Amino acid sequence: MAPYTQQKTVVIGAGPVGALAALYAARRGDAVEIYELRDDLRNPSTIPLNFTKSINLALSERGINSMRQAQCPGLLDAVLAETIPMHGRMIHGEEHGKLYEQSQTYDVRGRFIRAIDRAGLNKRLLDELERMPNVTFYFNHKLTGADFNRRIAWFEQRSKPVAGPRPPEIEINFDFMIGADGAHSAVRFHLMKYARMTYQQEYIETLWCEFRIDPSLDGTFRLSPNHLHIWPGQEFMFIAIPSMDSSFTSTLFLPASHFAELDRSPSTLVDFFKDRFPGVVPDLISEADLVKQYSENPHLPLINIKCAPFHYSSSVAILGDAAHAMVPFYGQGMNAGLEDVRVLYDFLDAYRPSPGSMPGGSDGMRERALSEFSKFRTSDAHVINDLALRNYQEMRSDVTSPIYKLRKWIEEKISIHVPLLGWATQYSRISFTNERYSEVERKAQRQGRILIRSMTMLSVGLVSGVSWWAWRWGNNSGTVGRLA
Ligand code: FAD
Repeated sequence: MAPYTQQKTVVIGAGPVGALAALYAARRGDAVEIYELRDDLRNPSTIPLNFTKSINLALSERGINSMRQAQCPGLLDAVLAETIPMHGRMIHGEEHGKLYEQSQTYDVRGRFIRAIDRAGLNKRLLDELERMPNVTFYFNHKLTGADFNRRIAWFEQRSKPVAGPRPPEIEINFDFMIGADGAHSAVRFHLMKYARMTYQQEYIETLWCEFRIDPSLDGTFRLSPNHLHIWPGQEFMFIAIPSMDSSFTSTLFLPASHFAELDRSPSTLVDFFKDRFPGVVPDLISEADLVKQYSENPHLPLINIKCAPFHYSSSVAILGDAAHAMVPFYGQGMNAGLEDVRVLYDFLDAYRPSPGSMPGGSDGMRERALSEFSKFRTSDAHVINDLALRNYQEMRSDVTSPIYKLRKWIEEKISIHVPLLGWATQYSRISFTNERYSEVERKAQRQGRILIRSMTMLSVGLVSGVSWWAWRWGNNSGTVGRLA
């Protein structure tokens, strides 16, 4: 692809979204600079994000497609080679003193999501960037200020020894800034002073704590590796996602008040697990290990952030968690962030200045592209934020409900046997297609209304039929009685 111009694009944050955005910009010939608060993730001493040892994510079509569109030969194959297919949920429980497992496939057409290590994916993207001559990394650089009219930004250099009260600061200029600096984004904070931004943030009552389920003694997985395992608990849940080393990364999601109770009386932790997550202790994690991991691993909050717009003028756009941090229950946070990159560059490419256009013309075109992007993407981001919140109810509770299972069964049957109707479950549209989130929600609501209407008509029909037969039977038996 021919370069736009040698414009300078600075990317703040070298997480998965920032790294992919930098790749898109670099592929278009921009001079790309990436500023990252922490040290290089590929350096073993770097403290991982959230202070957790690892975090396993569900990678699905939107994330995969965005990497496919990055046009980096071999990148996607290398990423996918380090993933484990998860074909469905495995629901764990206990009935009449017996443990049971129940598999619920994600998709009737056999499509699946993939377990991936976030750090592994991030490193792969950084390696790819390292190979590009027009990309420069600035690790240990914290964005501290930005002037989006003059296109100047300031950074604290954290690796330099601190002589005075503050670390040394540098000033840079740029043509275009991409803020991919996560939920507590500094770019968003400064953007708010320029754009009339609407902003909403909410911490949900639930906290999360990570656990590891080691491989069995012979080095194999202790549970089926091709499922996302769930121990639903109505108000809380425990999940397990497979890792490449045959272990599972598990997460306990529990109300903060319940964490506080367990903290006050740690001796109840093992009984709580035995009672509410049957089959976990001691079969998968020993009692001692459970207590150790619970006390050593942090108990972290979950934030939901909505804002609009995602840009200012032609100088800055925010992507990923910086624009729409969401709770993890639809497995879409990173996927949506990677999709932001693809959608942003679809707009930038559509408003690409023609060769030889007037100086400054590229700013005007970029401003239009960013404005269109913001309008288009904010509604989708808000929808997936809401769906992610609602999906917690589905994962921790609805998965065991007969009504949930009936709707899933009907929608899947219609999708297979009457393909012309174009029916699909909301889950499969979100996870296995690139349809806009807002469109998926609209279709799911329409399907829901049709199902309710059909069920109502069916029940009215059944009740009328039964009443009619009862009336006939009553009349007949009267007749028979009289005849007799
Ligand atoms: P981040 O990963 O937060 O990266 C931001 C980067 O910016 C960091 O490297 C940070 O150091 C840097 N930075 C911050 N401030 C500054 C600054 N001032 N200057 C310079 N650099 C800065 N998503 C999924 O798609 N599927 C899942 O299954 C899934 N599961 C999840 C499970 C849990 C428990 C959690 C918590 C999240 C999950 N997510 C999932 C969400 C996913 O982790 C995030 O959406 C994703 O990491 C966001 O990527 P990002 O690049 O936008 O931000």
